[in-house]
Amino acid sequence: MQVRKIGVLGAGQMGHGIAQVAAQAGHEVVLRDVESRFVDKGLQGIQKNLARQVEKGKLSATDRDAALARVHGTTDLKALAECDLVVEAIVESLDVKKKVWTELDAIVKPSAVFASNTSSIPITLLAAQTKRAKQFIGMHFFNPVPVMKLVELIRGVETSPETVALVKATGEKLGKTVVEVNDYPGFVSNRVLMPMINEAIFCVYEGVATPQAVDEVMKLGMNHPMGPLELADFIGLDTCLAIMDVLYEGFKDPKYRPCPLLVKKVQAGHFGRKSGQGFYSYGEGKIGV
Ligand code: NAD
Repeated sequence: MQVRKIGVLGAGQMGHGIAQVAAQAGHEVVLRDVESRFVDKGLQGIQKNLARQVEKGKLSATDRDAALARVHGTTDLKALAECDLVVEAIVESLDVKKKVWTELDAIVKPSAVFASNTSSIPITLLAAQTKRAKQFIGMHFFNPVPVMKLVELIRGVETSPETVALVKATGEKLGKTVVEVNDYPGFVSNRVLMPMINEAIFCVYEGVATPQAVDEVMKLGMNHPMGPLELADFIGLDTCLAIMDVLYEGFKDPKYRPCPLLVKKVQAGHFGRKSGQGFYSYGEGKIGV
């Protein structure tokens, strides 16, 4: 099978980036979100990113227009019926993802392959919501999708070698380097990254240092391009908390308990960049505290 048409579920930070790189690689793309305002925001994000590439001389206006013409925004789940590959990038909630995969399984053609961009939810568990566990895989992109080179490919218990090969080839066609891993909580990326971010939050919680000081230590001392708290705001504190919860539940090990300060920030709706407030404030393009 060849992947021609790609469905992307969720037009948020990750979904619109995935739709963009897929369209730029020549695929027809259906981008679906639950409300038209979210679809529009995703499409505007793609337009903005492509406009920036044209300004920098990295993309011609003709290629920009062709890529944009290949992305079709919708709120109708049935518009995904004829896709060859569906990549899901909706909120990091097991209940919401379970429901959407069950619905999709009944709508999308039986030969299609399903991929979740989940940061941490077990692929095997999501695959089990469908009747095509062999055609189900984790396709974990990184933020911002057009810039970050990695796709972490996660094999569920039932994922077939054909599915691995097909999705690996598709990821490579999108210009990504694909690394294969097995399905354990947090996979590799978030099993290593998230406890570090959580520990950085504990440093703030316990008064060891301010967010700026923690970030400076990690940037200048460890040569990290972004500090852990800056990165947490960028990923989304709601997503960070959801990942820590998966690690904690998955391993039943207290070393993965989410810091109470992270929980409190999420309760307050301080999700980071996307809500305008996290460990830093984001207004008028300025970063403050
Ligand atoms: P986001 O909050 O920016 O976007 C989520 C989008 O999903 C929203 O637009 C929401 O309206 C939409 N949505 C919710 N339910 C839906 C449904 N039933 N159908 C279609 N759309 C629906 O979140 P995000 O940061 O883009 O994260 C999306 C997924 O990608 C999560 O699973 C997250 O863990 C994963 N992820 C995030 C990052 C990151 O750095 N943010 C990195 C890798 C993976």
